[in-house]
Amino acid sequence: MKYDAIVIGGGHNGLTCAAYLARAGRRVLVLERRHVLGGAAVTEEIHPGFKFSVASYVVSLLRPEIIRDLDLPRHGMELLPLDGTFTPMPNGDHLWRVNDHEKTRRAIARHSRLDAEAYDEYGRAMVEMGRFAKPILSMTPPDPTSLDPRGLLELLSIGRRFRGMRAQDRLNQVQLLTMGAVDFLDQWFETDVLKATMSASGIIGTFLGVRSPGTAYVLLHHYMGEIDGSFRSWGLSRGGTGAVSNAIAAAARGFGAEIRTQAPVARIVTKNGRATGVALENGDELDADIVVSSVDPRHTFLHWMDEKELPGDFVEGVRRYKFRGSSGKVNLALDGLPSFTSLPGAGPHLRGAISISPSVEYMERAYDEAKYGRFSRRPYIDIVIPSLTDPSVAPPGKHVMSCFVQYAPYDLRPERRDGDSPEHRDFSPGPERRDRPERRDRPERRDRPALRTEVPALRSVTHEWDRQREAFGDTVIDTIAEHAPNIRDLILHRQVLTPLDMERDFGLSEGNIFQGELTLEQLFFLRPVPGWAQYTTPIRGLYMCGSATHPGGGIMGAPGKNAAEKILRR
Ligand SMILES: Cc1cc2nc3c(=O)[nH]c(=O)nc-3n(C[C@H](O)[C@H](O)[C@H](O)COP(=O)(O)OP(=O)(O)OC[C@H]3O[C@@H](n4cnc5c(N)ncnc54)[C@H](O)[C@@H]3O)c2cc1C
Repeated sequence: MKYDAIVIGGGHNGLTCAAYLARAGRRVLVLERRHVLGGAAVTEEIHPGFKFSVASYVVSLLRPEIIRDLDLPRHGMELLPLDGTFTPMPNGDHLWRVNDHEKTRRAIARHSRLDAEAYDEYGRAMVEMGRFAKPILSMTPPDPTSLDPRGLLELLSIGRRFRGMRAQDRLNQVQLLTMGAVDFLDQWFETDVLKATMSASGIIGTFLGVRSPGTAYVLLHHYMGEIDGSFRSWGLSRGGTGAVSNAIAAAARGFGAEIRTQAPVARIVTKNGRATGVALENGDELDADIVVSSVDPRHTFLHWMDEKELPGDFVEGVRRYKFRGSSGKVNLALDGLPSFTSLPGAGPHLRGAISISPSVEYMERAYDEAKYGRFSRRPYIDIVIPSLTDPSVAPPGKHVMSCFVQYAPYDLRPERRDGDSPEHRDFSPGPERRDRPERRDRPERRDRPALRTEVPALRSVTHEWDRQREAFGDTVIDTIAEHAPNIRDLILHRQVLTPLDMERDFGLSEGNIFQGELTLEQLFFLRPVPGWAQYTTPIRGLYMCGSATHPGGGIMGAPGKNAAEKILRR
């Protein structure tokens, strides 16, 4: 039987793409490698009775039009507000921002009256930036190198909207694209802890520090969400983030899509430069008019295809695409609630995010260690306790605690130990990297000999994270214990996820949480490869629809929807 479309990957973007294609009457099959749907937006019962959002844990960016089009609430999706961010400080003080504007003003004024004033101004400025950027999320990026009038018109419309902004907003926009998060925030605020905790959303999913140029944009990326029309608010999904994916899957099935789990794709089948289907790891071949991959470009083009079928400069672009995973996750099943020294007891401050980001220097030092191949000894941690808002995820009186951690560099430097073989002490680039010819020696385009396709230096990386996983978990617990000393006594079970585990479990190359860094050179018409940012690929009938395409990562659904629209327009 031949399908109109086969979608590789049952993450939320693959499912969204499938749902829109099926809604348009196409015969669609989704193939997911794991036993469970959702990819990085997944709920799993890791410990009996405790349901974890194993990877992604908060929702904000999911496009409201997708919620409406697919009627996700009818399929079981419910978003619950997450109220505020509590930042404990080592000196016993704290900063606690909530969704109530006046309360937050008062909380900031305790640290600086000027900052309380500036907080309003900053909020207004970011809303303007968000308004400018939002329509871009749902557009297929134009190709600036092409003279296609439709693309030129779209570029023109962005230019017009830019010109229509107030001069100060235009300046802010340029600064957002070029500055580091802390430098950008310095223009508004003087309180160190406020800048530290706000700058944190500028580094998520990047291998950059809070002062690195480009991180101001990532602030905006995390600022653009809305829940029920409330701009920039974050929420929890009842039943974990997997419930979002399951609702999208139910909508897709409702439109007639077929979804298979435990169906790993091994190869994309092509004939005369055209995708004709896929081959599964078990040897089955399935035919389709088009194939849509929601998995990152390294897997799609370097692992599942013979790169000789692709133009050399495209392959080079895929190789250059940066992953550089930098995050880890520690999920805890707890016997009770942690009590923070700076605000003891089980108060409402535990219902929002708890951010371990006490100072700008703390954040920058955390990055310093990662730059040299070590996980941060005192990392930035973003904690949520979803069971306080959604009791369905833990037994009565017990809690689940999700700790997102940065930095955990994928390329982890080996720790020296007595009796190590020389291989463990060698931190030089892996053989595949060492063997790569210098750029000037490389032949151009199609004449290039095939380069090695293995993930660089995977062998030594595998050793190292497997060896240091529990030490990383201990570091996270020790860091939390400095602020909430009772945490150790509460832990019933812990799951430690390193970037290597994210690569193994979710197929996220180098463990990058967004299927590739959200850095300027990898955004909009440059994502994932310049010239191929329109969900199309050099292979006819082969499309991309995951977070590695515009507008990037997060539980957003936009790549999946945009790709489906592009396919349906063909
Ligand atoms: C630790 C972590 C924390 C995060 N936190 C947040 C957060 O709080 N909020 C937020 O908005 N975003 C967060 N994100 C990012 C967000 O979860 C992702 O950007 C998003 O879920 C990616 O969706 P996707 O559908 O594009 O890709 P994926 O979720 O990566 O889906 C790809 C799917 O393809 C499957 N696959 C891989 N190989 C094969 C194969 N050979 N055959 C068939 N199927 C295959 C995978 O199993 C997976 O299901 C986080 C991500 C991680 C990892």
